[in-house]
Amino acid sequence: MTLETPHPATQTTASSPKAPVRPAPGNRVYNFTAGPATLPLEVMEQVREDLYDYGGLGAGIAEISHRSPEFHAIVEEGEALLHELMDIPDDYRVLFCHGGGQLQFSMVPLNLIGLKPARKALYVDTGSFAARAADIATRYGYVHVPAHSRETDYDRVPRLDAEILHQDASYIHITSNNTAMGTYWRDIPHTGALPLVADMTSEILSRVVDVRRFGLIYAGAQKNLGPSGLAMVILRKELLGHSLPGTPQLLNYTDLASDRHSMGNTPATLPIYMMLLILRWVKEKGGVAAMEKTNAEKAAILYRVIDGSGFYRGFALTEHRSPMNVTFDLPDGELCKRFVAEALAAGLYGLAGHVARGGLRASIYNAMPMGGASLLADFMIEFERANG
Ligand SMILES: *Cc1c(COP(=O)(O)O)cnc(C)c1O
Repeated sequence: MTLETPHPATQTTASSPKAPVRPAPGNRVYNFTAGPATLPLEVMEQVREDLYDYGGLGAGIAEISHRSPEFHAIVEEGEALLHELMDIPDDYRVLFCHGGGQLQFSMVPLNLIGLKPARKALYVDTGSFAARAADIATRYGYVHVPAHSRETDYDRVPRLDAEILHQDASYIHITSNNTAMGTYWRDIPHTGALPLVADMTSEILSRVVDVRRFGLIYAGAQKNLGPSGLAMVILRKELLGHSLPGTPQLLNYTDLASDRHSMGNTPATLPIYMMLLILRWVKEKGGVAAMEKTNAEKAAILYRVIDGSGFYRGFALTEHRSPMNVTFDLPDGELCKRFVAEALAAGLYGLAGHVARGGLRASIYNAMPMGGASLLADFMIEFERANG
């Protein structure tokens, strides 16, 4: 193959667009991508040092044994901080797993669908991730969808009345924050004796939740906990011991829980260390309640612009809209493209919506500073003035 024109990435002539301005602390852009997402600047700076020399060892954090006392101390502090920050009771276990958020779509049914003889699970369909979780679970048992919001293009979460919850099911699964759609379960549903399982990938540690209400919570790390690939699971110990025959050892919660540090093999040591730094950062900032308060303020800044405008249209119903993923639209696709490009030039990165929905989306996880939300709000007002 002959290359007649250079690859666009190699074109650095005067015709290529200017590098974006870098308005965020540390000479960075404000990064609104949905995940992998922005991390706290302090954490990035610490990791940069520790990657080279961890604690004066003369070896980097990614270069030391997972069986070393240094790494054991990291896992132990990480678990202890999660217990403290989320007020996790003693009858729950924290596990660190491989495979990000979506391997849990298999691990949850492999380990829990056999809790009751009907091998049945309930999945509430509130968007793309929720639907995929349900679809994958059909490989392991019978899946029933007691409620969904498909008819309104997932602009809300449905009601879950007690009478639609089959009590012969092993568990009920919700996606507590719907990343692509920008909706969330503001009120965690009451499911009685039915264990509630929640995919909290895009909102973990962003608001105070009562862990006792859940049988199991899982989260891929790349939104509020660290880099991608790692997943964190919190589960009630009494749910252990029911995995389906043939469940691979590394996907078996009971096997993972039998090791003090959930090490069925070499864990993702660098992501786990980065998670620890983030947990320390959350604690230093005042904990989950402080995160929740700041997150609500950041979201309010953006929703206020959307609500006060005849130009931007918010996607989600007001009572259901997420403090983490702000989804909105412009009158046409051309304007959306221009919005994304001009925002980038202003140092506001990653504002295109998820492919499942299109439009625009600003993901404002814990690590997004208030300054990022207000700069975006100012940009939106200016963009409306110029194009509205
Ligand atoms: C981002 C996200 C995932 C991602 O899963 P990966 O396997 O780590 O890509 C899963 N569920 C939700 C709700 C998410 O927002």
